Amino acid sequence: MAQNKCITPVEGVTSALLDSAQRFRTIFERANAGIAFADCCGNILDFNNAFAQLLEYERDELLGLNFARYTHPDDVAVEVALFNEIIANKRDGYRMEKRYVTRSGRIIWVDLSVTAIRDEQGNPANFVGQTIEITERKESELQYNTILNTTMDGFWLNDMTGRFLDLNHAYSRMIGYSREELLTMRISDIEVNERPEETRTRIAKILATGHDLFETRHRCKDGRILEVEVSVNYLPVADGKMAVFLRDISLRKQAEAALLEAKQAAEQVSRAKSEFLANMSHEIRTPMNAIMGMIRFALDTELTAQQQDYLQKAFSASQSLLAILNDILDYAKIEAGQITINNMPFSIAETMHRVVEQFRHRIAEKGLELFLNIAPDTPEAVSGDQLRLLQVLNNLMNNAVKFTESGAIHLTVEPVCTNNESVTLRFEVRDTGIGISKEQVGSLFQPFTQVDGSITRQFGGTGLGLAISRRLVELMGGEIQVSSIEGAGSVFVFTTQQELLSPLLP
Ligand code: ADP
Repeated sequence: MAQNKCITPVEGVTSALLDSAQRFRTIFERANAGIAFADCCGNILDFNNAFAQLLEYERDELLGLNFARYTHPDDVAVEVALFNEIIANKRDGYRMEKRYVTRSGRIIWVDLSVTAIRDEQGNPANFVGQTIEITERKESELQYNTILNTTMDGFWLNDMTGRFLDLNHAYSRMIGYSREELLTMRISDIEVNERPEETRTRIAKILATGHDLFETRHRCKDGRILEVEVSVNYLPVADGKMAVFLRDISLRKQAEAALLEAKQAAEQVSRAKSEFLANMSHEIRTPMNAIMGMIRFALDTELTAQQQDYLQKAFSASQSLLAILNDILDYAKIEAGQITINNMPFSIAETMHRVVEQFRHRIAEKGLELFLNIAPDTPEAVSGDQLRLLQVLNNLMNNAVKFTESGAIHLTVEPVCTNNESVTLRFEVRDTGIGISKEQVGSLFQPFTQVDGSITRQFGGTGLGLAISRRLVELMGGEIQVSSIEGAGSVFVFTTQQELLSPLLP
């Protein structure tokens, strides 16, 4: 049977005190924070495990050690001053972020709170210090500050109402306001022409997608306007924040504007030249036609054989000159944007036969063969510009005949895509001529391009035919391509969009 033990009041108090001391010791030892007691000179009297572990000291090494021994030399003076203020009864305690140097020489950052324990007269007798290691936080703060103050871009941290919470030197330099001034301002104080609905849309986008990138303008302290590119990232903390990077693009904008102006001026000059060229070719063509007409009349009169020969040569030279003039006139008109595509009914089959008729004689003369292939499903009646289509086909056929010495020329047309209203036709001119090298194929459709000087002299031409053809094909809603093997032949393919006519042409 248990015996009731009688406890006197004094014994009870002692036991309660012992219990409380025990409890304090347990909390003290198990605390995550490092806790230490020091005397009035800052020498360690007692400490817990966390404190010893933080500093990497053994218990007996740390007892009696002065705090200055494990404080980073750069932080000693500040702390001694604070410590002395407590001794002089000017303050009760202090809190600071400081560095310790551990026994192995590592530098760690701590958040330290020191409080005085006063004696009965109210004078500080002992000190208790609580330390929490903040090295990681300090390192990321250091990295954050280093990055922000090294980057050439401006940086802000804002709350969602646009108030500046932080910003870097680069932005302060850009805008001319000091950091302190900006910390009392909002985005709307510096943004030019910012409309509230625009801001609302941007904020909604940032909240929805977490990011936004746009260009805007800021007014500097001295009134200058800054063109900036802004990249905003939403930070999902507390009420939300915006991390904003800003790049001064004023120079880029100026350069772009200057470039655009120069481009427009160059285009204007180029248009003026093309117009001049178009007018000149037109002016030359009229007397040219008169000269050719007169030669033709003269050829019909009675002439000696020699006179006949001279006039024939003059007529053929005039024909070549007229062909060149026509090319130049066409190209100039295309460049000046003066060419329009007609939309008149015509027959594809009849067009193809006209091309064949035009070249039949020359092809036979050169001993070449000619094959015409009109796919059976080719629509008969279409609407479009027959003359321009003929011009492209004639140019490609003319080249095929010019650059082929033996073999055959194939001229093909087929529909590649048809709907109720229109048809895409694919035309192909294939020859077995001298071909074109891979390097030259790329620039073939540029004006004044010819494969080489000697060939040009041998074959003649302006180097404008393919450039004109390409532009005409584009105006007819298609595209032109070439594939070729040097020495084996070339294939020129182009497409056009034609409106379908129904019923068929009579
Ligand atoms: P031109 O024939 O008046 O010189 P083009 O623009 O029609 O001008 O042709 C440019 C150049 O492309 C020609 O000078 C020639 O070197 C090359 N070329 C065009 N078609 C062919 C072809 N079928 N075979 C070989 N070379 C060709």
